[in-house]
This record gives sequence, structure tokens and C-alpha cells, in this order.
Amino acid sequence: MEKDCIFCKIANGEIPASTVYEDDMFRVILDMSPATKGHALILPKKHMADIFEMDSETAEKAFVLAAKVAKGMKAALNCDGLNIVQNNGEVAGQTVFHFHMHIIPRYEGDGQNINWVPGTSEAEERERVAQQIRSGLN
Ligand code: 5GP
Ligand code: ZN
Repeated sequence: MEKDCIFCKIANGEIPASTVYEDDMFRVILDMSPATKGHALILPKKHMADIFEMDSETAEKAFVLAAKVAKGMKAALNCDGLNIVQNNGEVAGQTVFHFHMHIIPRYEGDGQNINWVPGTSEAEERERVAQQIRSGLN
């Protein structure tokens, strides 16, 4: 647990939140400012600020859980679609620096716009960038 981390406190049950799911590694809660009905947050109980600090076991299990929650939402809320959003760093819109995944059910006509502005690129540039990223992978 990280001192003064609100999501450490929520994930470990020190501060209450509406819980959708809990196991020994995760708590899934409802976001207090939901984009849509059912907007949930997957919180690891172990503190990690963001994906850059994330271990592989937590990463694997987080996505398995995301799929479980998504299917549960589809069944229970009858949503028409769903976005998974996960922000890392202030520049990317992260406001709480304890890793979390947003699971956002989508409904026809919900008026939300969770998107980016598409850019342009040349094939040659994409090849260069792909090579650059490959060089950063272990
Ligand atoms: P971020 O912008 O870091 O990806 O998302 C943080 C999210 O946490 C926001 O959607 C915000 O509404 C939610 N949030 C922040 N503090 C609390 C809290 O104390 N309780 C709950 N349930 N949600 C919170
Ligand atoms: Zn934390």
C-alpha cells in the first residue's frame, strides 16, 4: 500500500466504493463520475502507478478480468458496445496515479465521445517507427 493513494485505500477496502467484483488481486468498483451507466474501474490491490510499473502476472490477470466484467455488463446492463480505456501519465489524461482500467459500457445514443483525432502517415515513416519501437522491446 502506498501512503496517500486513494485507489490503494479503495482497493484494499479502507475507503468504501460500490464493488462489482473482488478477489485476492483486484477490486472492481463503479467510477464516481461515470461516463455511462455501469462505468467501472479495475484496480489491482497492489500499488503500481501505471502500466510502466506493471508486472506481467497482474497485466495478464487484469485483461482476463476485463473480459469477464465486459461479458457480465453485456448480460446485466444490455449495453450495445463497450470501451476499455487505460490512461498512463498526466499527458495521457491520467489523474489518479494508481493503475486502473476503465470499463465503459456504451449505449446507442449515449452521447459520449471516447476517441482521438486520426492523423496521417507514410508507409516509410511507419516502418521507421515500427523499427524504433521494436528496438525498445526485450
Ligand atoms: P483517470 O483520469 O486517472 O484515468 O481516471 C480516474 C477516474 O477515477 C476518474 O474517472 C474519476 O471519476 C475516478 N475517481 C477518482 N476518485 C475516485 C473515488 O474516490 N471513487 C471512485 N469511485 N472513483 C474515483
Ligand atoms: Zn495505490
